Amino acid sequence: MEIGTLRVIGSGDDTWFHRDPWVHPLHHHKISSHLDPPSRVSDWMNEDRKSWNTNLIQRHCSSEEADAISRIHIGPAGSKDKWVWKFTTDGAFSVRSAYHELRKNQRDQILPRPGTHDLNIPTSDDCWNWLWSLNLPPKIRFFLWRCIRNALATKLNLHRRRCSPNPKCQLCNAEVETAVHCMFLCPHASATWARVAPLLSQPQNLSQWIFSLRESESPDSLRRKIYCLWNIWKARNEFIFRGTVLSPTLTSICAFRDAAEPHYAAVSSATSSHPRDFPSHSCPPPVLHHKRIHCDGSFDHGSQEAAIRVVITISNGQICDGRARKVICSSPIEAEACAILEACRLAAEDTCPATILSDSKVMVDAINEDPSCCPWRCYALLAHIKDFLHQTSWVNVLFTNRRNNKNADWVARNCRIDSLHPKWLSVLNVVSELM
Ligand SMILES: [Zn+2]
Repeated sequence: MEIGTLRVIGSGDDTWFHRDPWVHPLHHHKISSHLDPPSRVSDWMNEDRKSWNTNLIQRHCSSEEADAISRIHIGPAGSKDKWVWKFTTDGAFSVRSAYHELRKNQRDQILPRPGTHDLNIPTSDDCWNWLWSLNLPPKIRFFLWRCIRNALATKLNLHRRRCSPNPKCQLCNAEVETAVHCMFLCPHASATWARVAPLLSQPQNLSQWIFSLRESESPDSLRRKIYCLWNIWKARNEFIFRGTVLSPTLTSICAFRDAAEPHYAAVSSATSSHPRDFPSHSCPPPVLHHKRIHCDGSFDHGSQEAAIRVVITISNGQICDGRARKVICSSPIEAEACAILEACRLAAEDTCPATILSDSKVMVDAINEDPSCCPWRCYALLAHIKDFLHQTSWVNVLFTNRRNNKNADWVARNCRIDSLHPKWLSVLNVVSELM
C-alpha cells in the first residue's frame, strides 16, 4: 500500500522534503539524500513561493531528483498539501485499483519490463495485435508493417540488395537514406513533422517509434502521426519517380486531410495529390467582441516533454493571437491543464469577454463542476486556474470536442514552437490558395 500513497504539493508547508513521498515522477517518490535539520518542501522554493529554488535543489539532490522536482507544479499561496492514492485518477483509494496494481506487479516480476531490452522488432504478440487491429485501411497497416520490418525500398536497402549504385538520399543528397533519415531527418520530412506534430525528440529507430504510438495521447494524434509517415513516404516517391516538387506544407495538409477523413486515404490516395477539403470550418465563428480561445496540450511519453498551444479567434473567425511553447510536466493531463492555464493568462490580459475551449473533459468538469474529480496530478494547476477565473468574471471555460478544436489545433501545430504570427499567415495563405 505504501507505494500507492503520496503527497501532492499545494504550498509545500505541510510536507517534509526528505521524509515524505511527494516527488511523484520518481519511481519511489522520495528524495534519497538526507539533510539535517529536517526541512519542509516550501523551504526549497524561491522567496516568491511560485518556483523551485533550482540552485539549492541541484546542490543537494541527484540530477534525476532535480528533474523530477522541476516537473511538479506548485499551488497558489495558502493551498494545502494532501495525501492521494496514485493509482486512481482522482487520488481516492479503491480496492479495484489496488488489486489491479498487485496483479501488474506480479506480472512484471515474470516478464521483462518493456524498454529494458533494445530489440528492433518487438517479439510480443501484443504489439502485432495492436498493429493489425488499428482502425486504418489495410494498405496503411501493411505500410506500417513494412516500416517495422525495415522492408521499405529506401536507398540503403536497395543498395544492400545491389539494386542501387549508392545509398545516398536522393532528396537531400547529403545523407545515407535509412528509414529513420527518410521519415524524420531529411529536411522535407523534418519540416513536415514540424507542421503536423512537432517531434520533441529525435527518433532513433522507426519500428520502436511506431510501437511507441501505442501510448499516443489520443486516437486523433495517432492517426495524424501515421498519416504523416505515409504522406512523407508518398511525397518522397512522387519526387523520385515523377519529379513532383517537394512541399512540406502540402505534405502536411495531406496528412491532416487523411487523418481527418477515415476512409479518404483508402479511396483517393491513388488519384489525388491535392486536398480539397481542409481546413473545414467545423466551428461556428465567435460572436462580435467575443474572443474564443482554443487551447491544446500534448505530451511525449518517450522524451517526457510537453508542449502547449493556445489560439485566439475573434468575431469573424479570424485568428488574432496565440502562443505555442514547451512546458515541463509529467503526464498528458498536466499538459492539457497547463494549456488551459496559459489560455487564462492570455484572457486576463484585457477585459474582452472570452470563452476558453479545451478538449479535456476531465479538466473542464473539474473547473466548472466538481473539483474533487480533478486528477491529482493537476491539483496545483487547477488551483491556479480557479484563482484566475475568480479574478476574471469575463472569462469562462467550456468543453469542445476534438473535431471543433481541429482547426485551431492545426494552425497551432503549424506555427513552430516559439514562432508565431508570420508562420500562420503564410500557412493560412497557402491553405486558402488550395481551397
Ligand atoms: Zn535526405
